Amino acid sequence: MKNEAKILLHILRQKRIRRKDLEKIIGVNPSTMTYLLDKLNDYIEITEEVPTLGKPPQFISISKRAWHILAISVGREKIRAVIYNGHGEELECTEQRVRKEHLNAIGITELIKNIFDKFYDFDSLGIAFSGNVNEEKVDSKILKLDNYDPVKALRLKSLGVPFIILSDVEAIAAYESKTSGKERVFVLNYGTGIGACYYEYHALFSRDEFKNIPLGHLYFGGNEKCYCGATGCLETVASDYVAFKNFTGSNISFIDFIEQEENYWDVLKSIRNINKTNNSKALEIYENVIDKLAYVLGNTTLLLGVSQIALYGEGSSKWFASMLERKINELSTNFKVSVRYGNVFDAVERGVSLEAAVHLVRKKFSK
Ligand SMILES: [Zn+2]
Repeated sequence: MKNEAKILLHILRQKRIRRKDLEKIIGVNPSTMTYLLDKLNDYIEITEEVPTLGKPPQFISISKRAWHILAISVGREKIRAVIYNGHGEELECTEQRVRKEHLNAIGITELIKNIFDKFYDFDSLGIAFSGNVNEEKVDSKILKLDNYDPVKALRLKSLGVPFIILSDVEAIAAYESKTSGKERVFVLNYGTGIGACYYEYHALFSRDEFKNIPLGHLYFGGNEKCYCGATGCLETVASDYVAFKNFTGSNISFIDFIEQEENYWDVLKSIRNINKTNNSKALEIYENVIDKLAYVLGNTTLLLGVSQIALYGEGSSKWFASMLERKINELSTNFKVSVRYGNVFDAVERGVSLEAAVHLVRKKFSK
């Protein structure tokens, strides 16, 4: 990897770094650093701090005009697209409502293409889908996409800019890692579905690692059939489906519930509102969900060696995070876990834009 790429990737991670420290990390002398920073003039800005004595220390950061990144988040209710500058400031933004009739490859393709018609001036592109992404192919139960190929369908190569495709929970994990500075991050995305991602920062020289964890389909027990074909998946005993049944007294099957989910959105909305506002009522609805989820999460943190869970998703709340944290730590003295409610509404767009910036740097300075 070229020194220019190393410098930019380092600043992207650290946000602001002392020039002297950067020289040490990259392994170059001050005059070579001057030469490199000159070459990177379009991408970086250098600020000086008032010195206590002697020469003022210089700090390097990414410049506002370094790039424009188009970040698109494709969710069940809407597609949101944002252009960010080098400082991560939102320059433009647009939203497309996703209706039932759009839930297929043609419909989703159409909606994303509308966004490309609006925004054409960007240097790198990141798209995050609600669902699973494997080698740029998307499988999403809720978007009704099966082995969807966005690279082909959207003709991404013809855009002439680097692009990356992630899942929404991967994008959140990237956001969490880069904003917290933590090298290992565990994100739980909780709602009617339960997804998780473990993200490991691998320094400069190899790709960061995303490990999608199909937490919702771990075996927990019971007789309820899951849409994945198995019986006893965690989602059938510890998701908002269970909260829905507790709240309404309904005995609808999990598969029917997922099939007709939008008929229940209003009820789900009120349940989630209770989850945010009325703690004693919420405990009645969520108690068995929290018990089972805590059991799996506690064990998962031991497996991964993480001590913090970042909780996201439509079904989550500050209250839910604190209840989960308490329950997990009560279960076993081996569990020492904090659960933090990730109350950032645009974490998916921000996360995928950060990954798209990393990708741009790697492509641009690869040779
Ligand atoms: Zn399942």
